[in-house]
Amino acid sequence: MNLHEYQAKSLLKTFALPVPIGAVAISAAEAVDVAKKLAGTCWVVKAQIHAGGRGKAGGVTICKTLDEVHAAAEAMLGSVLVTEQTGAAGKLVQRIYVEQASTIVQECYLSLLVDRDHECLSFVMSPDGGMDIETVASTSPERILTLPVGDDGLRDVEIAQVAQFLTLPLTIQDELKGLLAAMVRAFWALDASLIEINPLVLTEDNDFCLLDAKVSLDDNGLYRHGDLQALRDLNEEDPLEVKASAFGLNYIALEGDIGCMVNGAGLAMATMDMIQMKGAKPANFLDVGGGVTEDTVTEGFHLLFSNPHLKAVLVNIFGGIVRCDIIANGLIRASAMHAERVPVVLRLVGTHEQAGREIIEASGLDVRWANNLDEAATLAAAAVGGNA
Ligand code: ADP
Ligand code: MG
Repeated sequence: MNLHEYQAKSLLKTFALPVPIGAVAISAAEAVDVAKKLAGTCWVVKAQIHAGGRGKAGGVTICKTLDEVHAAAEAMLGSVLVTEQTGAAGKLVQRIYVEQASTIVQECYLSLLVDRDHECLSFVMSPDGGMDIETVASTSPERILTLPVGDDGLRDVEIAQVAQFLTLPLTIQDELKGLLAAMVRAFWALDASLIEINPLVLTEDNDFCLLDAKVSLDDNGLYRHGDLQALRDLNEEDPLEVKASAFGLNYIALEGDIGCMVNGAGLAMATMDMIQMKGAKPANFLDVGGGVTEDTVTEGFHLLFSNPHLKAVLVNIFGGIVRCDIIANGLIRASAMHAERVPVVLRLVGTHEQAGREIIEASGLDVRWANNLDEAATLAAAAVGGNA
């Protein structure tokens, strides 16, 4: 689960990490009130969406007067912000964050993540703060340092290494040590999967300040944090994914036009690969799992058919625990809800296969049968005009 910047900053503040003071607003008038309450003469108005790259896209405005705060807030609220991370559709700005502006002397990139290669947490850092880290990785990888965190945190020699790599002044080493340790504490306490500070800045008072913060929480640890669950913003998530998760279905929206209904994550991935190999693109990943009922299968198909970009559906069921007759009944029920339907390719083998086939045939539903995955992907790609 991803958090908004304002949520991330308020959480990180509880771990004594230095963030600018600010507050969230949902109207221009409220933004001005916030600015008045914050001491200072310069504010930053920031669009709160689950995507970075706002600075370059007009989602971060530095304001020197309250009128400018009002104008910036009015321009952002209700607008659709398209950044290099949102995709072409962009994201609707429903909230803004107003915070004190910092005087930046130096900017760097600092993140803490789960490092699967080293089987531990690692800091990833770069002296090129404010830049997209993927760009730095591709253009100047030598300007990125990955530092695994040992069980006892970072040693003094490693803190010195960080300071040197980020070209920070030697006088700030104690603060740096405290900051890195606080990030590690926050990471474990929140069950995070990523804490990314871009930029971490040094201000003219020679203090650190986290000017931007992205925190991703591990969904598998969320049950331990009732308070954090409340931070979920469903507006930021794909509506079909939100619906699917309410039915216990593992659905991930993709950009293609062949809807997939598969049992088992591995088979679902293989199905998507096979579709791509036939020159077409999957519209989603959907693993119906083992213990499905006719109701959840119906909802699953209903979700697929609700996707306006869909041109075909590929059902790939290799029934073990999943029964083909349950899938067949779910397909028939969902089809009844959608008068206009895209072609459906069915590969249905395994448990209760014969019953599943008979149910479909007796229903008169127009489907294209495939004997194996290769054939199913060929038929689906042909249905969407792929080059199979
Ligand atoms: P994004 O990563 O989405 O572009 P950031 O929060 O990183 O958004 O803001 C972009 C840039 O705006 C930062 O790199 C920094 O230079 C500037 N900025 C952001 N917040 C502040 C602030 N509180 N004070 C001064 N400058 C800021
Ligand atoms: Mg940023």
